[in-house]
Amino acid sequence: MLAAFDGYKEECKRIMTTIAARLQAVRSRIAAAAESAGRPLEDIRLIAVSKTFTGAAIQEARAAGQVAFGESYLQEAMAKIPVLGPDFEWHHIAPIQSNKTRQVAELFHWAHGVDRLKIAERLSSSRPAGRPPLDICIQINISSEASKSGVAPQEVLALARAISPLQGVRLRGLMAIPEATPDVRLLRARFRQIRELKDEIVRQGIKLDTLSMGMSDDLEAAIAEGATLVRVGHAIFGERPQGPG
Ligand SMILES: *Cc1c(COP(=O)(O)O)cnc(C)c1O
Repeated sequence: MLAAFDGYKEECKRIMTTIAARLQAVRSRIAAAAESAGRPLEDIRLIAVSKTFTGAAIQEARAAGQVAFGESYLQEAMAKIPVLGPDFEWHHIAPIQSNKTRQVAELFHWAHGVDRLKIAERLSSSRPAGRPPLDICIQINISSEASKSGVAPQEVLALARAISPLQGVRLRGLMAIPEATPDVRLLRARFRQIRELKDEIVRQGIKLDTLSMGMSDDLEAAIAEGATLVRVGHAIFGERPQGPG
């Protein structure tokens, strides 16, 4: 009995040091990428993508100083977020179904997967009174993949114009996930296209300050092209069980 408990304690300690160490390694990668891009480190924030991982794993990352977390599955997020308490910043990073906008507007600080005006309007009208507007990003289907969600690049300016007057949301920038490729030049070109789209929208008079791009395997390329929020999952928490994410 006692031996089993000691084993359990050992296991907790192992998970803890692993997450803290991985988090530190990711921070070092971000710092190195910022330095080689000649960018200030403060301009880049890390979102720890905790989908499929337990509240205990999230607490370990929190204890190691991580504040912003990303979740993709609403049911799972609804079970974890209220239990963890107020000391976190939550980012919804998946497409949003129109019958789920109220939960997203109530639970999260940010939503990165907005790709239709109707979703933005519903998020805006269901943001609880007394809370600051929900920060949102428009998701772009930058590689025009049939399987990916997101608005087409040529439609993003019109969507940004329509969203920016809404009161319950605050349009902060663009989010995208380029196609998976070992071709670093192609990847860089995709991230650059996202940045150029953002720059174009800013030139049209809409204030944006956010580029949500880059994940565990490509954060360096994203930072080189101007990412301000990187969404990193398995490099912090380990491999996810097989699933839709
Ligand atoms: C799962 C997920 C991530 C994290 O992916 P990793 O490759 O594990 O870093 C980032 N962004 C989105 C939108 C995701 O769904």
